[in-house]
Amino acid sequence: MDGLKYFEEIASTLPNPEIDKWKSQGRRVIGSVCSDIPEEVIHAAGMLPLRVRAPKLQDTSMGDAHLHVFNCSYTRSVLESLLRGDLNFLDGFVTTNTCDHMLRLAGELKDKANMPLVHYFSMVHTFHEGAKGWFISEVKGLVDAIEKSLGVKITEKDLANSIRVYNKTRTLLARLDDLRKNDPPSLSGAEHMQIVLAGMSIPRELFNQRLETLLPELEDRRSVEPGRPRLMVVGGACDVPEFIRFIEEKGANIVADGLCFGMRHYRGLIDESGGDPLDAIAERYMSREPCPAVINSFDSSFEILKDTLTEWNIDGVVCARLKFCDHWAGRRKMLVDRLRHHEIPLLDLEREYSTTGSGQIGTRVQAFLEMISG
Ligand code: SF4
Repeated sequence: MDGLKYFEEIASTLPNPEIDKWKSQGRRVIGSVCSDIPEEVIHAAGMLPLRVRAPKLQDTSMGDAHLHVFNCSYTRSVLESLLRGDLNFLDGFVTTNTCDHMLRLAGELKDKANMPLVHYFSMVHTFHEGAKGWFISEVKGLVDAIEKSLGVKITEKDLANSIRVYNKTRTLLARLDDLRKNDPPSLSGAEHMQIVLAGMSIPRELFNQRLETLLPELEDRRSVEPGRPRLMVVGGACDVPEFIRFIEEKGANIVADGLCFGMRHYRGLIDESGGDPLDAIAERYMSREPCPAVINSFDSSFEILKDTLTEWNIDGVVCARLKFCDHWAGRRKMLVDRLRHHEIPLLDLEREYSTTGSGQIGTRVQAFLEMISG
């Protein structure tokens, strides 16, 4: 399908021809490293928010020289990309403290990213009375930093427009997710990931147009095998479509996820009824499915996961967590215990950021699928 090819190509590299076009018009690109950083604010400044990935990067030796190898391989890969000069096209970076690994990365980026803007956005780690106020003050800090460092003004009207554009993406992606409720789903999990990654990598209005054109083509499509086990993938920093395809090739359909490069990133609209846009942005980020970095979030996160299991008719969950990722190591244990009560099996796979598959992972996936099907 030609339409899908476009998304596949965009997802396969970090810089892409759409970014080249954008830059050739003298426009700026700002990298961010976490799903909790509100992209709407960067978009409202007339800039392209780019979720930083390191597709196909295998060697992180320069990153390893500055970050301890106990840092997860996503953070080391981002630093490696910076040190290699692969991120020289960026005009700024927004960092955060999702975990200690990210905090270390933030320090390295502050020191080594020679860009007009390197801003630290301090994320909320517990849900409590003051959490929303904290988030709003961080969003205001981001607005100030962009305005001062890059000489622009972000108005309420700009923010309202960006909210509308991003909500449109979320509505279109919800239609895409509805197609994954079919058996067989109208697209594979790998194709879904390519589409979502493309959305994080090109101008958002263009992505919306492309996806709007693609959806009717997908609605008529039945190309993935029916009757195969239906899986959901959860975990941290998983943005490798080849890894998803590797699992699917063992005989499963991945039809939903709880990834920060996937459904967890885009589910949940921002209120457009005309109140304070910063308040509306904060409300959405506080009420969407939280990641394990929010330490008292398990119950609310599990409720969303449970609904997803039912709506997408999931047979099993794969936890694809990065080696040394403490947040997901803890969350996996809590999930195993809670899912047992719901008789949903979980396969725990520890991987590196760039892992596309391995003999050992293949054997374990096959055994898991046999157990589900048996
Ligand atoms: S994968 Fe885990 S350790 Fe790595 S940045 Fe994400 S939360 Fe932190």
